Amino acid sequence: MKPYFGGIRHNYKNRTKKIPVATKRHWSLFLCGLFIPILAITLFFAFESDNAQVISETAYMPEPSVEPLSPLLPPTQIEDIQPALIQNNTQDKSVTLRVGQGETLEELFRRHNLSLGDLSVMARLPQAADHLRILLPGDEILVGHEEERVISLAREIDEINLLKITKEAQGFTAEIIKREVELRLVNAHGNIQRSLFEAAQEAGVADAITMNMAGIFQWDIDFIQDVRIGDRFTIIYEELWRDGIKLTDGNIIAAEFINQGTPFRAARFLGVTDGTADYFTPEGLSVRKAFTRAPVDFTRISSNFDPNRRHPVLNTIRAHRGVDYAAPTGTPIKAAGDGKVIFRSARNGYGNTVILQHGGNITTLYAHMSRFASIRVGSRVTQGQTIGFVGMSGLATGPHLHYEYRVNDIHRNPRTVALPPADPISSEYREEFDNLTAPLWQQLDVHRPPEFTAVSN
Ligand SMILES: [Zn+2]
Repeated sequence: MKPYFGGIRHNYKNRTKKIPVATKRHWSLFLCGLFIPILAITLFFAFESDNAQVISETAYMPEPSVEPLSPLLPPTQIEDIQPALIQNNTQDKSVTLRVGQGETLEELFRRHNLSLGDLSVMARLPQAADHLRILLPGDEILVGHEEERVISLAREIDEINLLKITKEAQGFTAEIIKREVELRLVNAHGNIQRSLFEAAQEAGVADAITMNMAGIFQWDIDFIQDVRIGDRFTIIYEELWRDGIKLTDGNIIAAEFINQGTPFRAARFLGVTDGTADYFTPEGLSVRKAFTRAPVDFTRISSNFDPNRRHPVLNTIRAHRGVDYAAPTGTPIKAAGDGKVIFRSARNGYGNTVILQHGGNITTLYAHMSRFASIRVGSRVTQGQTIGFVGMSGLATGPHLHYEYRVNDIHRNPRTVALPPADPISSEYREEFDNLTAPLWQQLDVHRPPEFTAVSN
């Protein structure tokens, strides 16, 4: 068998198609609605002759359909928006203002002899205010002008959105323009021989994508403890391009990680109610649990769940009905699961405490906070949302989070209690999910790296 080293990346250039994208969120909608079926068709054929090269620019791909494919995917306006460069009259001049460290737009305007009066009028336009006030070193602002008077101004807000201000007869008008981007789906896979990051880098995968993959599978795989030589991965993800330049990586669409021989798979699917994306297994189960194991990035566990503990401050035998996670003061404490705030106050020995009510008659408690995040009793929080910050209020010998997990009012050990899974794909959307993801699972099959076999010389 041919030895297999590192990762190989495929770039399906023939698949790319310019798409005006309304927002980043809509871009996700496109993805499921538009690209997965296309991907399916394209890659099905492409993989027939699969190899490690870039697939040539032959016409495998039909034009994408823009029809919404499911009730999950509401119709998205596809407007033919022109790239939003300022169209200068030839007699007008334009200047690019480059923001230096600590520079304000006012300083830049002054240096280029541009009207500060015009700037102050533009800065008051509701759509423009934030984008003219918050500048970072390296930002560029293109100003069209006639002498000192501003005729137009354009500023990139992000890869997609551009602020454009135009002088009209009645004054300045501001608009946010969505620019065309080109989505490319790329496929990378690797075989771990030293470390996950090394294998991913060999496959041309940016660390951020590797981190995202680890995030997707974090509920099943401990990427610090469990990863072994010979573990394999395949990632299908998006890249965002414009004018032949890669702007950024996008979302992971599907991925497989084979950990010590056990494959874990997930594909991205958009939530029904709020349009947020989540990852699900081929069986339609969420990759997530309904609760995180530890609601804080901790440095160590300073005290375990122990019904017979001697209390460090009171020096009496007193059950320790939670886990103490030592962490620096100010470390964010994150809601372990979706829920509702039912308590947010100081509570004698517990200090500043938050209690969340979750489904399944589960409550979680977070104590000794230095301060609360902006939540109030009755408000809903989502898993991972910051609810407060580590401190040592109440009876505590050092900064830590005291965390309790109760089921039907009975304290359970948060480190060992069986955590319920997050909600699966609802039956209503199951068929849709299966249809959208079938080609992705097929791709993961095709691209699964072979098992590593030692080279003998
Ligand atoms: Zn404690």
